[in-house]
Amino acid sequence: MHTQYDVIVVGAGNGGLACAATTAKAGLKTLLLEKHNLPGGCASSFVRGRFEFEPSLHELCMVGDEEKPDLVYNIFKELGAEVNWCYERNLFRAICKGPGGYDVTLKAGKQQFIESFEQYCPGSREKLENLFKLQQTDNEAIEYIYKMKGKPNALVMAFKYGDFMRMASHSVKEVLEELGFDEKAVNILSTYWGYLGVPADELSAFHYFNMMTTYINDGAAMPKDRSHELSLALVKVIEDHGSSVWYNAEVTQFLYDEEGKAIGVEINHRQKLYAKEIVSNIMPNRVANLSKEQYVPERTRKLMNARKFGISTFTVYLGLDCTREQLGFDDYTVFISEDPDSRRQYDTKGMYIVNCLNKVIEDSSPEGTCTLFITALLEDSDLPEDLDEYNYEKYKTDMAEKYIVDAEKVLGLKIREHIEEIEIATPVTMARYLGTPAGTIYGYRLSDWDNLMARTAAEQADITVPNLNYVGGHYIRGDGYNVAYYTGNLIGGRLVTKYSDLLSAKKEQEVE
Ligand SMILES: Cc1cc2nc3c(=O)[nH]c(=O)nc-3n(C[C@H](O)[C@H](O)[C@H](O)COP(=O)(O)OP(=O)(O)OC[C@H]3O[C@@H](n4cnc5c(N)ncnc54)[C@H](O)[C@@H]3O)c2cc1C
Repeated sequence: MHTQYDVIVVGAGNGGLACAATTAKAGLKTLLLEKHNLPGGCASSFVRGRFEFEPSLHELCMVGDEEKPDLVYNIFKELGAEVNWCYERNLFRAICKGPGGYDVTLKAGKQQFIESFEQYCPGSREKLENLFKLQQTDNEAIEYIYKMKGKPNALVMAFKYGDFMRMASHSVKEVLEELGFDEKAVNILSTYWGYLGVPADELSAFHYFNMMTTYINDGAAMPKDRSHELSLALVKVIEDHGSSVWYNAEVTQFLYDEEGKAIGVEINHRQKLYAKEIVSNIMPNRVANLSKEQYVPERTRKLMNARKFGISTFTVYLGLDCTREQLGFDDYTVFISEDPDSRRQYDTKGMYIVNCLNKVIEDSSPEGTCTLFITALLEDSDLPEDLDEYNYEKYKTDMAEKYIVDAEKVLGLKIREHIEEIEIATPVTMARYLGTPAGTIYGYRLSDWDNLMARTAAEQADITVPNLNYVGGHYIRGDGYNVAYYTGNLIGGRLVTKYSDLLSAKKEQEVE
């Protein structure tokens, strides 16, 4: 067996792209394999008529800018991947229609956030300050745990990161109530739960506040030319450094040696390729399905059986023949719900999000037009039991109509008469396109024993197959663009360190 590559990465989603760019840039001969004819996974774009739609990205957090760079900005900058970033400085508008309802617009920037929140929930200032203080050491603590490979010193954790330890095992709701927020404030502060797919009474407090405070501090960022721009920027880094991306290359089998070490992959049921390291951007469940039974370790099997899949979405993409101003829509992100409580929003799937990209990127659609992007969180178990190829279209149309009509009513807009293009995606679409079980867009559900903290602590123990690495939304940091890039860059960096001797030898050869 001849190893043709140093690293083979399976799947060109955000995690796979960031990992391949990291190893390629450092000089490791990298091959990125993608089953589709274009990169990105969720981070892509598609065209209908004269519109180029964003398929997934509402808001990217942890970006920052040149002056105050945050995680994602730094990763792209260090890799040399150029992106034209655009920013939204409002946090969101949240409208709750039912009893105890509200209509609030919150601003980004710590002081602006506090001022805007005070308007709707007077007397919250001090509690918010306490919340920010509590969250402050989060990032530091988690970085320390990574550095210690999931085995931090108990005394350091207790004395240096006491606040983190106090908060880590509690839910968002418990911590907010403990800080003295009233019910309305708890509900409004929980608005972002959908971005992690788990309601506030189940979601890890430190994970959620970590995400929320980065939105508050940095605002949200979007690339000028849909998320496809992000994916192309990373592909350019890979190719500029002499490595390769192969499209229409579906991995149909993972290959192992007699001792169970990962050594390669088979693509399109035909060609076998070998490498020193294999990185999977696809979920362990899929990897197990694509591996001979004897190579799936017991721990992997147990994990697969114990974990729950994350949520999926029902999305409606609308190209309208009028401008945003003519439509009368002055927001970028609006969360709309029937009930203020996130648990009930989750149980009834009674929350959806309306986005208008033209609010942030005015010319993101042709002149005289605008786009709307409606997203509801859904699980495959929410699909009708009798769904088949004959009634699927009716199901999609009826659901889309329900959301459009409701958005018209709540936002006071006339949407239907302006529809020029419409596309609808369901958990079935996500399962088919991404290849994820149950169409999950968030990997595994971040709850109970499988939250961010537990995954981080168990990372080393969960790596059971030598030379098989994982990256992406299903990995230790949970879902989202930012953390998929983060894990890609993290694992890529670890491989660069592991093969530093090889890289030095390559450099010496070049000099000779
Ligand atoms: C509608 C929607 C809205 C979202 N909104 C946001 C948001 O606003 N902010 C945010 O941060 N996140 C958002 N997300 C979530 C975010 O998109 C994901 O968490 C993130 O993109 C996951 O990246 P990943 O690295 O896990 O790769 P994925 O996107 O899951 O990509 C995996 C890649 O692997 C490829 N692949 C699969 N099987 C194979 C195989 N056998 N061989 C070769 N290739 C294979 C797939 O084609 C795909 O390209 C949203 C997602 C959706 C769908």
